[in-house]
Amino acid sequence: MISENLKKVEDKITESCIKCGRNRSEIKLIAVSKTQPIDIIKEGFIAGIKDFGENKAQELRDKSELIKENFSWHFIGHLQTNKVKYVIKAAEFIHAVDSIKLAEEINRKSKEINKNQKVLLEIKTSDEATKFGLVNEKEIFEAAHFCKKNSNLDLVGLMTMAPYSDDKSVIRNCFIQLRRLKEKLNKNGFTLSELSMGMTNDYTIAIEEGATMLRIGTAIFGDRSTGRHEEIINKAGKK
Ligand SMILES: *Cc1c(COP(=O)(O)O)cnc(C)c1O
Repeated sequence: MISENLKKVEDKITESCIKCGRNRSEIKLIAVSKTQPIDIIKEGFIAGIKDFGENKAQELRDKSELIKENFSWHFIGHLQTNKVKYVIKAAEFIHAVDSIKLAEEINRKSKEINKNQKVLLEIKTSDEATKFGLVNEKEIFEAAHFCKKNSNLDLVGLMTMAPYSDDKSVIRNCFIQLRRLKEKLNKNGFTLSELSMGMTNDYTIAIEEGATMLRIGTAIFGDRSTGRHEEIINKAGKK
């Protein structure tokens, strides 16, 4: 089932790329595996997925200890400062940095293990989508400068979530905002390359507006179980 779903998603990505004249190779597909057990992740890996996204710190830690295939983990959820220690080893990218305080802690923990941590700043581009994310341009520039001057942080881009809406123009507007913000930062001496935007319901719009990282869960794995952490990890541990 995963490989069939993946093929459908890949076909739609390719179609969108053709429609707007983009190259498929500019876009990383992150399969959001939150709440999915390890055997499902392995099945995804065998089907060709090279990037997996998790949004709970302990879940990423436990899964990354149980599965050691050659792929990248992305931490895409809201991260509390006291949980940075759980994700710092496994996460190649941390997508939702939304405060200097969090960036500080990521820098500190990265330094301890001699890592250059790739991070993205989470931007709140709508009122509804999420409680989290930077809004104010001054704050955004301050956070970007903070990342730039700390050598264990590598600021690679920006991330956002659009609201769940039937109105495509509302969604598109969020993605346009994110792209423009990246352009503005790059005009001011930054060198951001990534736009992490687009989920199951809106990834074709995100591609049209310049997404370089799509975070797609449901379209690949189906509906998420509501399993508790212990259940996910126990189920995982058995196989
Ligand atoms: C769950 C999640 C996704 C994937 O959502 P789907 O609608 O299942 O594709 C993407 N980004 C974040 C931050 C998430 O938490």
